[in-house]
Amino acid sequence: MTRGFYIGRFQPYHNGHHNVVQSIAEDVDELVLGIGSAGDSHSQHDPFTAGERIMMITKSLVDSDLVTYAVPIEDLDRNSVWVSHVQSMSPDFDVAYSNNPLVIQLFKEAGVEVHQSPMFNRHVLEGTEVRERMIDGKDWERLVPDPVVDVIGEIDGIERIQRVSDSDSNGE
Ligand code: ATP
Ligand code: MG
Repeated sequence: MTRGFYIGRFQPYHNGHHNVVQSIAEDVDELVLGIGSAGDSHSQHDPFTAGERIMMITKSLVDSDLVTYAVPIEDLDRNSVWVSHVQSMSPDFDVAYSNNPLVIQLFKEAGVEVHQSPMFNRHVLEGTEVRERMIDGKDWERLVPDPVVDVIGEIDGIERIQRVSDSDSNGE
């Protein structure tokens, strides 16, 4: 039995993340999805709460054979103990998957095996691009799994990200 760990902010959970999860699923029996910056929400960079991101992930993976656990991970401004912080919040895992150089370095220093995953269509499958399209009223829906479109509709997510991205205005 192998259990993996994959961390992201998932703002929102998009098809790049979904492809990564599907490729990790070929290697592991179970996967922990760490929801990074879990305490952040209602900003242009981090519009959705940890709970909303859990809904996106859970509903997108409901038909998958993989056993998954979504675990919120709050930011800790102390990289030297970040891996212990992650481990304290997560089911035990055998291998971490990341392409982020800092995350890779921290796990390796802590003796955790790290695998890199391939990048999928990164020029459009990127959270920043999805959020920009949401703010600009452009087509974002085909960049995310269908259940994510439903969750964002249910929480009025487009109205939220557009409002919190507006600059202060005196109405002139
Ligand atoms: P943002 O622009 O908000 O940083 P992001 O797409 O980088 O969004 P994260 O939540 O930061 O999303 O991503 C978590 C991890 O998923 C990162 O380590 C990133 O390398 C990986 N990832 C993101 N998009 C893709 C993709 N298209 N293909 C493969 N991996 C991806
Ligand atoms: Mg990123």
